[in-house]
Amino acid sequence: LIQLAIPLNFIGFVYREIRQGLTDIEQMFALLEVEEEVQDRPGAPDLVVTDGAIVFRDVHFAYDPARPILKGVSFEVPAGRTVAVVGPSGAGKSTLSRLLYRFYDVQQGTITVDGQDVRDVTQKSLRSAIGMVPQDTVLFNDTIAYNIRYGRPGASDADVAAAAEAAQIGSFIRHLPEGFSAMVGERGLKLSGGEKQRVAIARTILKSPPILILDEATSALDTRTEQEIQAALDVVSRNRTTLVIAHRLSTVVSADEIIVLKDGMIAERGTHGELLQREDGLYASMWNRQREAVQAEERLQAVRESD
Ligand code: ATP
Repeated sequence: LIQLAIPLNFIGFVYREIRQGLTDIEQMFALLEVEEEVQDRPGAPDLVVTDGAIVFRDVHFAYDPARPILKGVSFEVPAGRTVAVVGPSGAGKSTLSRLLYRFYDVQQGTITVDGQDVRDVTQKSLRSAIGMVPQDTVLFNDTIAYNIRYGRPGASDADVAAAAEAAQIGSFIRHLPEGFSAMVGERGLKLSGGEKQRVAIARTILKSPPILILDEATSALDTRTEQEIQAALDVVSRNRTTLVIAHRLSTVVSADEIIVLKDGMIAERGTHGELLQREDGLYASMWNRQREAVQAEERLQAVRESD
């Protein structure tokens, strides 16, 4: 019986390991939204990042040829600067970030990083130069330390802890009974959207890429969480070229330039102050609507706290 029990145990162990492995791979693909749409050119060189300047020039793109999504979009993200893209749902904002990360290729026009067309360099080198903080971060079924260290496997415990602090998630982790060894993911501790996003930011701080893509979650956050996330983003985007698909007022206000995308075209562009001056503009009306929503939420919170 003992002889039989050991192999069965072993099989159970292997099975669990494989299950875990599959979950990780599935999650990684979901995380990266991987689509095997693009291939490296034979002999493609690696991207050489000098400053990290990004240029979108006359970019056209459609997932389905019958339905154009981007119709001639041109803008730049100068090295070390932050550009925020705003606009109605479905305007094509996230598509811009997917094209920069090269999940898909543009159908017309170019996207370059320091003058190199993203289609001409290896995907591996392109993606290692870009940190992506997605809207909805998928966590691995593993410890919180593992999930942060994923940004730079081999990082020391001290580096992982420092990244967590910088991402404003350190105190939350320190208060967990198991600290950094706490299991998260589907079978572990369930983190809120804001906490997951801060784990993703900690991961990106460890990776330390010259270019950053932030796809902010659309879901409303309470004011305190929003402030914590903003503080974490300020750390990670400092001195990095940052493209933000923005849904929050705080990110938009501090951006060097705001691009207002509507129906796949740039409807307005400028700084927050410049865009607000156009009182009948799309940005001004979006801003006023959002501000009213935030004020209503704050009043509600104040009432709740006074109860
Ligand atoms: P939101 O603010 O709601 O996130 P968005 O401006 O980021 O919207 P995108 O995600 O860029 O919008 O999508 C633009 C359009 O392309 C949408 O109409 C969407 O349905 C469509 N789309 C997105 N991904 C795909 C896909 N993989 N295949 C086909 N159509 C897609």
